[in-house]
Amino acid sequence: MNPFEILDPRFEACIKPSAQLEQLHTGCRWTEGPAYFPAHRSLVFSDIPNNRILRYFEPTGDVAVFREPSNNANGHTVDPQGRLVSCEHGTRRVTRTEHDGTITVLADNYEGKRLNSPNDVVVRSDGAVYFTDPSYGIESDYEGNKGESEFPGGACYVFRVDPVTGALQIVSDEFDRPNGLAFSLDERTLYVADSGAPRDMSALDVADDGTLTNKRHFATCTNGVFDGFRLDDAGRIWTSAADGVHCYDPDGTLLGKVKVPETVANVAWGWPKRNRLYMCATTSLYAILLAVNGAKTM
Ligand code: MG
Repeated sequence: MNPFEILDPRFEACIKPSAQLEQLHTGCRWTEGPAYFPAHRSLVFSDIPNNRILRYFEPTGDVAVFREPSNNANGHTVDPQGRLVSCEHGTRRVTRTEHDGTITVLADNYEGKRLNSPNDVVVRSDGAVYFTDPSYGIESDYEGNKGESEFPGGACYVFRVDPVTGALQIVSDEFDRPNGLAFSLDERTLYVADSGAPRDMSALDVADDGTLTNKRHFATCTNGVFDGFRLDDAGRIWTSAADGVHCYDPDGTLLGKVKVPETVANVAWGWPKRNRLYMCATTSLYAILLAVNGAKTM
């Protein structure tokens, strides 16, 4: 079965028509948060309602539990020092797993108010941690712990943790349910998905002091919602959607799709040359080998 849908001729150079979609693992409830460790050739990913983090080992294809309970961890990333950074719904915090295995809390409150339920996270090369904080993890006990938002009107912000002081600041209050996020290749633009209303993706300028300005519409999802996404090394955006992964040119054109039989929540690049796209899709982990390479982020 051809897993590709070409919507713009530019997509043809991104794929090999003979490439097949691979289902690497299944039996989860809601997979999210893929993050790849090149040195270990392993991918960690969340199974949020099952309260665990799994790890896929590339050389053998084995999948095993990495952390359980995971505090209903959702999004993850690997920082420039190779450390795992995690969003935890259940404990309403963002943590870093140090090389010695200890856990450092990077953020759990803003001016004394508990966070909602951090969803997805990215680290800039200067060490600043940007994360989104929608309320999905406190709306029920399904993927966290039912609770109240402590922000005015249940606001859901985009936050930044300062790399020097560790101080937490709100860098955007312009989203309904901010979700996935990723930097452009030059890190001067931050793309942020909104899975609330409107269900779209925006681009914002990153100022010298790390704050975000000039929010502007980038794309509207044509099937389902944008959740997590990553860029390739030409700046194209590979984003989750209901029918698979949608690939956008930096000019905003939907170039094509990788069709996946389950709703995709997030993606990550792996394989020694970063040309394999891992896709967390509801009950399963999928992968496909592409003719492009993921952006180098660490
Ligand atoms: Mg998400």
